[in-house]
Amino acid sequence: MIPFDYRRAEDAADAVAAVTTTPGAAFLGGGTNLVDHLRLGVAEPDLLVDVTRLPFDRIERLPGGGVRIGAGVRNSDLAADPLIRQRYPVLSQALLSGASGQLRNLATTGGNLLQRTRCVYFQDVTMPCNKRAPGSGCSALGGYTRYHAILGASERCVATHPSDMAVALSALDAVVVTQGPGGERRIPLVGLHRLPGDEPERDTVLEHGELITAVDLPDLAFAARSRYRKVRDRASYAFALVSVAAALDLADGRIRDARLALGGVAHKPWRAVRAEEALRGAPATEESFRAAAEAELDDARPLDGNEFKPPLARNTLVATLRDLAGEEDR
Ligand SMILES: Cc1cc2nc3c(=O)[nH]c(=O)nc-3n(C[C@H](O)[C@H](O)[C@H](O)COP(=O)(O)OP(=O)(O)OC[C@H]3O[C@@H](n4cnc5c(N)ncnc54)[C@H](O)[C@@H]3O)c2cc1C
Ligand code: SF4
Repeated sequence: MIPFDYRRAEDAADAVAAVTTTPGAAFLGGGTNLVDHLRLGVAEPDLLVDVTRLPFDRIERLPGGGVRIGAGVRNSDLAADPLIRQRYPVLSQALLSGASGQLRNLATTGGNLLQRTRCVYFQDVTMPCNKRAPGSGCSALGGYTRYHAILGASERCVATHPSDMAVALSALDAVVVTQGPGGERRIPLVGLHRLPGDEPERDTVLEHGELITAVDLPDLAFAARSRYRKVRDRASYAFALVSVAAALDLADGRIRDARLALGGVAHKPWRAVRAEEALRGAPATEESFRAAAEAELDDARPLDGNEFKPPLARNTLVATLRDLAGEEDR
């Protein structure tokens, strides 16, 4: 581990100023991802600015009926919150499917969103990796790709985004609130993370020094009928091969509206807009679910080593919708 300075931010403006004025500085949340990267040599910051004592540790109702989640809310507290469990069960389930109890006790909402890919070559500083060392090449191409992308990848990078929580937030139309050198921004979660393109080193649209302060959930009544389903190599303590976040609005056996997102398939949480479009107005049947899944996965391009993913994603999406449609009205 290389030496670095540490300071505790006094308030959000202090945190933003400290990181903005130091090119090699980074915010420190729970440290469950960043500290691993320090140990591995993947991150070499000059300064860590601890933001865990800032007053962003609350879950509050918004005037319009939505909910604001402070960026410092720990993953365990968010998963257990009664309002979240009742109104957005998909979010609670996604959080509980990730990491372990001990990690969730430390991990923050802001840090979870900005955790970096688990691509084994990204984490191994002896291997070429365009994300870690731009222009060095992509070791995953022709290498181990079981966990890699099938949608929206580029020839520079085929990594996937690892967060379960972000997949649920993508389906829920969440909005990320930030404070940066230019003031406050509100960024729809679907636009926070980037596809790799020619710049895989940039995971998100955030600027250096832009602090996540909160995540807003809209008032989405039908999200009470929502679910997260995660397929992985072990029943716990494993990242998603494929995951599905889904919410359904049903009336008289038909689908009025749907919110769907996929995890484990792309460089960002993959909002399944084609599948949503196919479902709107359709009968809530196996046939409709299958057609929606086909529409979404039509562009999937598996790599040698993850050919199983497109059918797995289709089947997981269908199974999730079938379960949701079969639920009793609450
Ligand atoms: C063994 C293991 C298994 C795991 N399994 C899963 C899993 O199955 N599913 C899953 O989703 N996750 C999993 N995780 C990842 C875990 O969820 C993340 O490490 C955690 O959510 C990161 O949150 P943190 O607060 O600790 O972030 P940190 O490590 O503190 O920070 C992560 C990044 O976010 C930045 N950051 C932190 N807070 C802010 C902020 N407010 N504004 C702007 N930038 C900020 C940091 O600078 C850093 O770049 C696992 C982790 C481990 C170690
Ligand atoms: S897939 Fe992306 S993160 Fe993995 S080695 Fe290639 S460039 Fe690096």
